[in-house]
Amino acid sequence: MSQQELQYIGGARRLGSGEPLSVTAPATGEVIATGKGATAADVDAAVAAAKAAFPEWAGTTPGERSDLMHAWVRVLHERADELAAVESVNAGKPIRLAQEFDVPGTIDNTAFFAGAARHLEGKSAAEYSGDHTSSIRREPLGVIGSISPWNYPLQMAAWKILPAVAAGNTIVLKPSELTPLTSLLFAEAATAAGVPAGVINVVTGVGPVAGQALVEHPDVAMVSFTGSTVVGRQVAATAAGSVKRVHLELGGKAPFVVFDDADLEAAARGAVAGALINVGQDCTAATRAYVQRPLFDEFVGRVADLMDRVTLGPVEDPETDMGPLITRKHRDKVSGMVDRARDAGAKVVRGGRIPEHTHEGGAYYEPTLITGATQDSEIVQQEVFGPVLVVLPFDTDDEAIALANDTAYGLAASAWSTNVYRTQRASREIQAGCVWINDHIPIISEMPHGGYKASGFGKDMSAYAFDEYTNIKHVMSDITAAAHKPWHDVIFRAE
Ligand code: NAD
Repeated sequence: MSQQELQYIGGARRLGSGEPLSVTAPATGEVIATGKGATAADVDAAVAAAKAAFPEWAGTTPGERSDLMHAWVRVLHERADELAAVESVNAGKPIRLAQEFDVPGTIDNTAFFAGAARHLEGKSAAEYSGDHTSSIRREPLGVIGSISPWNYPLQMAAWKILPAVAAGNTIVLKPSELTPLTSLLFAEAATAAGVPAGVINVVTGVGPVAGQALVEHPDVAMVSFTGSTVVGRQVAATAAGSVKRVHLELGGKAPFVVFDDADLEAAARGAVAGALINVGQDCTAATRAYVQRPLFDEFVGRVADLMDRVTLGPVEDPETDMGPLITRKHRDKVSGMVDRARDAGAKVVRGGRIPEHTHEGGAYYEPTLITGATQDSEIVQQEVFGPVLVVLPFDTDDEAIALANDTAYGLAASAWSTNVYRTQRASREIQAGCVWINDHIPIISEMPHGGYKASGFGKDMSAYAFDEYTNIKHVMSDITAAAHKPWHDVIFRAE
């Protein structure tokens, strides 16, 4: 296979100057691209391109940025089939998921930020002191360094790039070295739409080399990171060295609380779809179902039946419901956690195995349903990031809320009930950045996504994302023209 240029710097593809890098299809284990990883020198070049592009880009009007982003939307529509096909192969997603979720979601997000670019908000200018006019300027920060994970490569690139550039920043994105292909296509689509070279750069390389260099770089004003809590902690510590602003979207362990007056069929379907979407490699995936005891057995039975209906298969087959995990190494991690739960006495009701009849080079794992685990066990407390749902019983509403809050994470949660007082209470008391009521998973461009607790801080999507990617400047102008101002009395006693 010929070498592919996996870097996108200053509007052009480059080879990279680091170690050889192979990009693999998770469904088959086949190498789909080979290139070279980015080194600190490549990161330097990308940051220099972004720095050079910043003054002109920051000087465009919101309307000009919006027009270019609308043109970008049109290019993405034209290239939607290519984006879906590449995302499907590189990330191991069933083609239906890439076509119906990843690509339309990304295009909608781009369209949202094309509009939002014209709506940066602030307090109204006014004479708050009586003697001055106070006004707010919302200014871009400069060069943003972003680092994204492999689970939704295109959407995560979009979530990082769009609010940053809509607000007038330029950016260097380091996608996961496992899944760089659609991030590169997304940046190229921006250039094709007329976004100037250097505004969006992509460096593909491993975290400890390219990621570390980006976080440390003195010309990077802010780091936005989506990934695991372990690496997020390291990124925050490194960024502290140069006092960079940090935005962290980290791991999750979403609870799924089913009260005894819930629509059981809706809850069972929601739990299976919410647990298995993207093979459970979703930071908001339903992972811990707490079910009130009268419904427990029936809920487990229905979930097991629904899991039996999920078809594993080749990602290009439209009949495939669930593809492989991202790598065989990751599958080993998932199966190790299930095995330890089983060894500790939990019951594996469904799955817990590598399936037969799937491509042997692929990292497939069966939909897995577990009961009988203890609340303090690894499988309940730690992120599995695989197709694994644990179901636990509860008796009282107080207990349900306490169990839902009893992990280090706080990204997302759902509550299932037909009683509005119960769902209102759950939405108020569950500590998470998003609480769904009688659903689990849907996201929309207009509303924020972000964590509480060890799931991080800051918001992706929505106008709230501009709070991360802008500096707020207060301009206070004297309107009295007086040389002797009343407040000078604190220094010059009354004259
Ligand atoms: P990861 O933390 O291993 O890697 C994330 C990114 O960080 C990758 O690009 C990686 O190359 C880079 N990286 C690794 N070491 C680094 C270092 N020392 N310095 C700088 N960068 C470094 O995560 P992953 O396995 O790619 O993704 C899965 C994780 O992402 C899960 O924990 C999941 O919950 C989380 N996630 C969170 C959200 C969210 O919105 N909160 C969304 C998607 C994924």
